[in-house]
Amino acid sequence: MRNRFTLFQSHLDLAHQYWSRLITVGDRVIDATCGNGHDTVFLASLGAKVISIDVQQEAINQAIERAQNEGVDQFVTFVNGCHSEFPEEVENSSVKLIVYNLGYLPGGDKEITTQVMTTQTSIQHAMELISPGGMISITCYPGHQEGQREEEELLNFFQILNPQDWSCCQHRWVNRKQSPSLILLQKNLNFVA
Ligand code: SAH
Repeated sequence: MRNRFTLFQSHLDLAHQYWSRLITVGDRVIDATCGNGHDTVFLASLGAKVISIDVQQEAINQAIERAQNEGVDQFVTFVNGCHSEFPEEVENSSVKLIVYNLGYLPGGDKEITTQVMTTQTSIQHAMELISPGGMISITCYPGHQEGQREEEELLNFFQILNPQDWSCCQHRWVNRKQSPSLILLQKNLNFVA
């Protein structure tokens, strides 16, 4: 699928491209859905200090191994827990990028999927933690029922945000039904808390 696009990029490649443009060495970032750690390793390789969260210890174990193999494990703090709460020591307006890859772990238990309620709670906290100029990146998978609800509810919420404070855009395929989409939410530089 990925290599079929000659001009456009998949939602994941596009997300990575935006992250690369935003991150400078030493930035604090959070991967709110660690999974098997592809995104965490990518972010750590950019020189970011990453906090990576997942409800499944099994996923975290895989991610630790991946980070060790890539030689970036010293840049990552892994947290086994729900992303509706972030570690207490993370201060408001201190995080450059928070990423979500919603849904369930590829090759894992499809019952353990992100849920509308906890995703919304998490994103509301994330919006406080993000620094002005920083971004929240969310890949949505409307191909399953909970994923469809998540995308709908998030869009409903983002659509009414004050454009003075936030800039939000979505990349979605217009002619592919239920295909994944990428939502990007940037806190404007002149945001006043
Ligand atoms: N970004 C990952 C894939 C993420 S899949 C990668 O690159 O491989 C989604 C992950 O979210 C799963 O591992 C699942 O366990 C996790 N998850 C589901 N609900 C969660 C919650 N409430 N808090 C934190 N993680 C959650």
